[in-house]
Amino acid sequence: MGTRAVVVDDDSLVGELSKTLLEDAGYEVDLINDSAKGLQSILARPPALVLLDILMPGLDGLTLCHRIKSNAATKAVKVVMVSGKAFHADRKRAADYGADLFIEKPYNVDTFAMQIADLLAGQAPPSLAPAVAPRLGPQPQAPAEAKMHATVWGCRSLSPYEGGEPSRYGRHTPCVSLEVAGSLLIFDAGSGIVPLGQRLVEEGKYRNLWLLLTHFHQDHIEGLEKFAPAYAEGFKINIGAPASPDEALEGRIQNLFEAAPPEFGAMQAQLEIFEMREETYALLPGVQLSPFFANHPDTTLAFVVEAEGRKFVYAPDSEIYGEQGTAMQDYDERLCRLAQGADVLIHDARYLDSDYQTRKNNGHSSWADTVDLAARCGIRRLVLFHHDDSYSDALLDRTEADARKRIAEKGYALELMMAREGLKIGF
Ligand SMILES: [Zn+2]
Repeated sequence: MGTRAVVVDDDSLVGELSKTLLEDAGYEVDLINDSAKGLQSILARPPALVLLDILMPGLDGLTLCHRIKSNAATKAVKVVMVSGKAFHADRKRAADYGADLFIEKPYNVDTFAMQIADLLAGQAPPSLAPAVAPRLGPQPQAPAEAKMHATVWGCRSLSPYEGGEPSRYGRHTPCVSLEVAGSLLIFDAGSGIVPLGQRLVEEGKYRNLWLLLTHFHQDHIEGLEKFAPAYAEGFKINIGAPASPDEALEGRIQNLFEAAPPEFGAMQAQLEIFEMREETYALLPGVQLSPFFANHPDTTLAFVVEAEGRKFVYAPDSEIYGEQGTAMQDYDERLCRLAQGADVLIHDARYLDSDYQTRKNNGHSSWADTVDLAARCGIRRLVLFHHDDSYSDALLDRTEADARKRIAEKGYALELMMAREGLKIGF
């Protein structure tokens, strides 16, 4: 029998994730989705540890913490509060209410178990060995069945609100959705997120959304104010984005929503905001997210998602150094290390080689450098992304042909795709 822990979280996905991580660390875990029932259970049979989400309907996590710590029968129970980093005030209040530890969501997979173990040090340690046994011998062959489904909703460099002739590649700015492990992740909130949002409200299939923003340049956030799930009932939107040294992330995102046209009405969704760093997070049960810094002006992230034996990488704005790179410029190496062997890499390939020569150090790549680096990193499928807004369909068609020719001539084992609105990739 392991040490007993109780997880109280109204969000069943996050609750399952907490339960899995604690079980992996050797605990015996009760997951309770209702905070009033959670309190009953804790009072009836005090566990060694409780993990409480701060945002819950009815009794919120802070109140629950206060009830536990102010009751003589349960005040020795170790209380761990979980919430997003952006909620500094919550952290202070949690400490005031007697919480023993504050863990940021999404969980850092490298430190989660250690933080809990440190907290309980001095008490009976978990008696079970880690539940995750090392896998020995050859890995089983990956089945051909698709486990992830990516959809491109926008892939251009500039706002469609600026005009431009119709294009088969589309005019919307960056937004890509990824269906994985029964959930939906969304990358960037360019104007492509507007039609995606309408679809999500119509279908109602995904209610707990993760929106991951690479950075705050206009073409990556301009659709956010018109994202329909924010104004519809029953959605939770988790937003992960890089922190800025000069502006609090929470305020920055609230400001974007405040620009919404009046016909959208008041915000209805539950919003939770997370500062993302270069770490590996357990985002959802079985889904790991590893943000890393891109080579692009301002703080810009790229994202690696790993789940069910698949790897997906989204790096829409980043400049590859290529052959001219120096030892100080390590983006190429970091991308290669993190994206190594990815099933799908969506990467910045904004410029023709000729245009790139006059636009170096602007934070975008030439398609040729992108193709060469993807081949070097053992990528299976490369999607050329973030097409320059001034490029015509004919020019983009020619780019695709040229890229295929380069791949054949150099003998690369690389499948190539041009991003266009509506492109779906199952893998
Ligand atoms: Zn940018």
